Amino acid sequence: MSLKKCKVLIIGSGPAGYTASIYAARAGLNPVQVTGFEQGGQLMVTTDVENYPGFRQAIQGPWLMEEMKAQAEHVGVELVYDMIQSVDFSKRPFKCKGESTEYVADAVIIATGAKARWLGLDSEKKFQGFGVSACATCDGFFFKGKRIAIIGGGNTAVEEALYMTNHASHVTLIHRRNKLRAEQVMQDKLFNHPKITVIWDHVVDEILGTDAPKSVTGLTLKHRETGVQQHLDMDGIFIAIGHDPATSVFKDHLETDHEGYIVVRPGTTQTAIEGVFAAGDVQDKVYRQAVTAAGQGCMAALEVEKFLQE
Ligand code: NDP
Repeated sequence: MSLKKCKVLIIGSGPAGYTASIYAARAGLNPVQVTGFEQGGQLMVTTDVENYPGFRQAIQGPWLMEEMKAQAEHVGVELVYDMIQSVDFSKRPFKCKGESTEYVADAVIIATGAKARWLGLDSEKKFQGFGVSACATCDGFFFKGKRIAIIGGGNTAVEEALYMTNHASHVTLIHRRNKLRAEQVMQDKLFNHPKITVIWDHVVDEILGTDAPKSVTGLTLKHRETGVQQHLDMDGIFIAIGHDPATSVFKDHLETDHEGYIVVRPGTTQTAIEGVFAAGDVQDKVYRQAVTAAGQGCMAALEVEKFLQE
């Protein structure tokens, strides 16, 4: 295993990670940034971004991340395509092991983000990649002219339902309650769309399909209160029920909350261990926006700078 020493190690490559590394590089801290194997984070699977300030017209998520990466490289960040497998935060310098490199750092910024959540059904697992997906923007194209269902009631579900109207013949949004938590403006678009039907108060009981060819043919829904079942014919099912923070490597070494998010001191990015900071969706389940993640990345870099000076 090779050894790489640095003042600050940044783990993750979403808006929080890149902003932290850009600020740290400009502060002369020569940061090393381990990007993970899904470089760019959640914005890589987003289409239009209309709320990131500075752009009059909609920009594309992957384009924004490419620009952040280019900016990081431009200011001298050392980007490493690796995945941290284990950490030792018990003493300084901190140690983080990748696939074949051990990183030794005086300070660490964790910006590993969050990942899509699944329903947890066996049938969902069976048909993942064969009609079941957690990313409409990645896989929507495969459902041209087909009937698809979106599960969930947040911004992601509504955004994906609207996006899928570009491909699918019909979109059914299935939500477990009778009220969406998506923004009102998105809800208005959803309710007014001729290609979208909403089914309230139902949960997915089972995803149905065939083995040859392996593909989805429908799903069984259950009414949340009455338990009455109904069957729907479907060609594709998109799960859009939120995310889990990517903290499995850190949870035994840092304080996390009951959902696994890293706990930071209020108003800072400082974790329970002095010198270890956390920024973006890995610690923030309230705002979860590209711009707030970027803001926290900036905070983390400024706090690291102060920490190293002290
Ligand atoms: P959310 O946590 O906001 O919503 C998850 C949805 O899935 C909820 O409606 C929830 O139901 C439902 N759900 C959760 N678990 C289950 C389950 N096991 N079975 C059935 N339904 C379930 O996640 P999102 O991914 O939608 O959004 C995350 C964050 O990102 C939010 O802050 C959102 O505003 C933001 N976002 C912003 C966008 C934008 O600005 N363009 C686009 C996408 C996301 P219930 O309501 O009953 O809890």
